[in-house]
Amino acid sequence: MKQSLHKLQKFFELEIERGYDNRAVVGGLDRILDSWEMEARANKLPEDLIQAVGVRLRDYPRLSETSRKEAIIGLWLRIQREYGEAVPDLKIPEKVPTSQTESPLVAPEEEKVPGDIPPADEKPVHAEPDPQMDDTHPEPAQTEQPDEPPAALNASVTVLPNIGPKTAQTLSRLNIHVLGDMLYNLPRRYVDYSRLTPINRLKYGEDVTVIGTIQSVRVRPIRGGRAKLVEVVINDGTGALRANWFNQPWIAKRMREGAQVSLSGKTDQYLGRLMMNNPEWEPLEQQQLSTNRIVPVYPLTAKITQRWLRRQMHQVVTYWAPRLPDHLSADIRSSAGLMDLPTALEQVHFPDSWEKLKNARYRLAFDEIFLLQLGVQQQKLTWQERKANVFETSNSWLATQVRGLPYRLTASQQRALKDIRLDLRSDHPMNRLLQGDVGSGKTVVAALGVAMVTRHGAQAAIMAPTSILAEQHYRSMLRFLAREDIEIAGWDGVTMQDHRALTAEQIRLMVGATPETEKSEIRQGLANGSIKLVIGTHALIEDPVTFADLEMVIIDEQHRFGVEQRGLLRSKGTNPHLLVMTATPIPRSLALTVYGDLDLTIMDEMPPGRQAVNTFVLTPTERERAYSLIQNQVEAGHQAFIIYPLVEDSEEIESKAAVEEHTRLQSDVFPQYKLGLLHGRLKPGEKDEVMSRFHSGEYQILVSTSVVEVGVDVPNATVMLVEGANRFGLAQLHQFRGRVGRGGDKAYCLLIPESSDGLENERLQAMAQTNDGFELAELDLDQRGPGQFLGTRQSGFNELKLASLTDVRLIEKARREAQKLFKNDPGLTQPDHQLLAARLERFWGGSQGDIS
Ligand code: ADP
Ligand code: MG
Repeated sequence: MKQSLHKLQKFFELEIERGYDNRAVVGGLDRILDSWEMEARANKLPEDLIQAVGVRLRDYPRLSETSRKEAIIGLWLRIQREYGEAVPDLKIPEKVPTSQTESPLVAPEEEKVPGDIPPADEKPVHAEPDPQMDDTHPEPAQTEQPDEPPAALNASVTVLPNIGPKTAQTLSRLNIHVLGDMLYNLPRRYVDYSRLTPINRLKYGEDVTVIGTIQSVRVRPIRGGRAKLVEVVINDGTGALRANWFNQPWIAKRMREGAQVSLSGKTDQYLGRLMMNNPEWEPLEQQQLSTNRIVPVYPLTAKITQRWLRRQMHQVVTYWAPRLPDHLSADIRSSAGLMDLPTALEQVHFPDSWEKLKNARYRLAFDEIFLLQLGVQQQKLTWQERKANVFETSNSWLATQVRGLPYRLTASQQRALKDIRLDLRSDHPMNRLLQGDVGSGKTVVAALGVAMVTRHGAQAAIMAPTSILAEQHYRSMLRFLAREDIEIAGWDGVTMQDHRALTAEQIRLMVGATPETEKSEIRQGLANGSIKLVIGTHALIEDPVTFADLEMVIIDEQHRFGVEQRGLLRSKGTNPHLLVMTATPIPRSLALTVYGDLDLTIMDEMPPGRQAVNTFVLTPTERERAYSLIQNQVEAGHQAFIIYPLVEDSEEIESKAAVEEHTRLQSDVFPQYKLGLLHGRLKPGEKDEVMSRFHSGEYQILVSTSVVEVGVDVPNATVMLVEGANRFGLAQLHQFRGRVGRGGDKAYCLLIPESSDGLENERLQAMAQTNDGFELAELDLDQRGPGQFLGTRQSGFNELKLASLTDVRLIEKARREAQKLFKNDPGLTQPDHQLLAARLERFWGGSQGDIS
């Protein structure tokens, strides 16, 4: 095995043994990269492999433990695929230690930096020097107006002595427009000048800042002239230290022999001597040393130097932060144990100590989450103020309905029913989010909810995102609510038929493809109240339907709909009860924040008999294996899905790919079977035709685009093959997988990414490792951020700078405080809540409205 691979193996194994604490290599795994890449190139490893390692390891410090594990295992699999037998498996110990053991490579434990200080989130940015700016020595500004109201913070940055229109434009690239923006322009990291280390006392692998005089500056070509290495040697009187920068030749131009610089980074080793690779650096500023020991490092943009920006920030922060009134009252601050705002802002920029910095960041993070919580809770209160009609459900009626079902309800389903029943009985409109993994059985819960309302003569509507799903719901509702076939005698001697919730005529389907004559008939039935339940797609809101008495609105796969669409349907009744359902599990921390205005019911239990779906990630070259598995399953009487991704953002192209693949599969791969084809360009009637043929077993295999994602229920299907799997999010893949394993038989999910070396493939391994949708959701949150879970709920969330939406404890604290506040002062009318009310208004940008 190549030397560079050997090394990687050693580091990886050590890292695994240490439980992925990123300390197998002192300073973090990413520190090995520059030298490793050189060695790997010398070993003639394929460039794309080197890049793959580079990309993953550069991110490594920022990954969670789970993602680190995936990164390492994934990279190694990738290497094994490349080199086959020659590369052994990684040694994975039986039990990964949770406590950090000292590794032989590691120097003594360095002093701990508070845990919530993020690592630099970008490569060091050194702006081109602007001599004009660099030499500016501004006087502190505006010292004469201590009583200036905070409104002045809305003044453009050009009011500062050193900032003209041109510089202001540059600053706007950092999202700094007005003085107030500067206060919240947070450092991305800090350098601790109180921990200067003399060069002769440096140890390998420590994170340090050193100061010295530049002795020599040299640029030399490396990698056969394809790259440049800047070598600088500095001396601090106790010794000399070399620093290397790869491919940043401009640095050499800015280093003058004899000048003083500070270098920050981890010490590394090269040919047995200590050195630094790619340290952050800046020209030395004497003033910094005497005053602020922990120095902020701000994000930069071209034409701005760290030194210049820091000076401007210092000026603004020291003047304005103390003059800023705190929007949190002293009560809230003491109850939540928070620093006051002026101190927090001062300390977050120019901290006196790490401890104060930590508290400052906590206070500011609290602010963000608190404002989010206030926003959603305010919405909730607004809803609770409304009156809704009361629908009582007797035990005996419910028991009879439940007994008529083809199966026993799970405990989760029973809990959900209880929640809904209580909501309907209260005289406030229900606003409930029913969250349950694919296949957890939400439909029957929705059906019983409908029955609780319609039995009193009122109307209900169910809206689904696709016509396939709407049609399926329609069939389910007929089955649950209007069954003709049941003759079981109930507890009171009457047959189920007498207890039937609705007749078939009272349930109607309205989708885009419904013929106009039928639509108008439905419209009429809804307006005069003879139709009690309508199921449909967007057609329900696009059509001018009116209801006689709409009392319950159910939205399935709610994340597929926009705010206005949900609002529109709801507005067709007077404060109807609202149940929104989602099969996309949302991490708890997010649900508490993003859906804080809704009551939450989680169904975390699957109906009995469902098996975990066996999931495999295959390389494109292993496609034949997938086909033969499908063949075996079909021979055994089962059915299979083959999904093609949305390649372009166009349904047309997507459909074309599926059409071509369908032709190829039918003629070349599975000529002996009948293959159905489903894509978004089919007319709804055609889709229905295809689905029912698949459902009835006439088609053994269904080739489809992602339209099949939601709702399709074919218990006999046992294989889900997803092509181009790397293009889908984990949540969506989990949805696909939920389409199989719905019968009692062993089921398979096969994921084939587009190429065998996509970095995304490591992400796919998570699918193989767990069947738990909530776990996958946490993972997705971790890796891809909250964006995908927010759906249409974006407003307010782009404000987040510090707060981690993954910090459950912070979120719960902010939530409690928000609840307490509204309890005392629901309208935020008390004098010491005025600032907060204004802040809240600003935070939500007035765009809060109906955030259901
Ligand atoms: P989802 O929550 O994804 O909408 P469905 O309501 O479509 O799930 O239910 C998935 C499958 O499980 C359906 O085939 C349904 O008939 C079945 N099912 C639902 N509840 C139960 C139960 N309590 N026992 C057995 N099967 C059930
Ligand atoms: Mg469903």
